[in-house]
Amino acid sequence: MQVREHVALAPCCTLGVGGPARFFLEALDEPTVVGALDWAKARGVPLRALGGGSNLVVADAGIDALVVKIGLRGITTREADGAVELTAAAGEPWDAVVAFAVAHGWAGLECLSGIPGLVGAPPIQNVGAYGQARSTRRPAGSSRSPGTTAASPTATAASRASSPDGI
Ligand SMILES: Cc1cc2nc3c(=O)[nH]c(=O)nc-3n(C[C@H](O)[C@H](O)[C@H](O)COP(=O)(O)OP(=O)(O)OC[C@H]3O[C@@H](n4cnc5c(N)ncnc54)[C@H](O)[C@@H]3O)c2cc1C
Repeated sequence: MQVREHVALAPCCTLGVGGPARFFLEALDEPTVVGALDWAKARGVPLRALGGGSNLVVADAGIDALVVKIGLRGITTREADGAVELTAAAGEPWDAVVAFAVAHGWAGLECLSGIPGLVGAPPIQNVGAYGQARSTRRPAGSSRSPGTTAASPTATAASRASSPDGI
């Protein structure tokens, strides 16, 4: 696990402003996320999760914490109660997951197309557009477009493990 120091955060964020992270780590798998939590806890350092940086304004003073850039990838699906449960790792680009669902003819996420960022952020701060929101779950047997199956998105542990207050 390679924790770097004084890493500029501006290039990691859409607005392109702000100071450095005191400590910085890119996590490509769950053991690294867990290791980061242990590392931070052992040193009394706060941990902050970073996704695509599309909803962040970093202060010029930077972040006095361990900033963990979440890079976990992978999508799995399974049939569940007549719908499809889609599980995407927290580092998957959100729009690619929406495109994946649409390409399979699964209704439920299509209005959330084009929203920047990664899958890990929406469970923490929700995303919404055109009346659809990530937090809205389609109950089994509810109405849906003909010939489609509802997709019910969930995110993997990297979101749940991170600090709930984020950056
Ligand atoms: C041009 C543009 C258009 C947009 N359109 C919309 C829109 O239509 N609807 C909408 O809802 N939003 C929209 N947004 C806002 C933004 O895209 C969303 O809020 C997106 O979900 C942020 O994801 P991110 O990965 O970039 O998160 P970041 O900006 O990296 O982080 C946002 C927050 O989530 C936390 N976080 C991120 N990843 C994790 C994780 N894995 N675990 C725990 N916490 C985490 C961070 O700590 C931070 O507090 C738009 C933004 C831009 C720039």
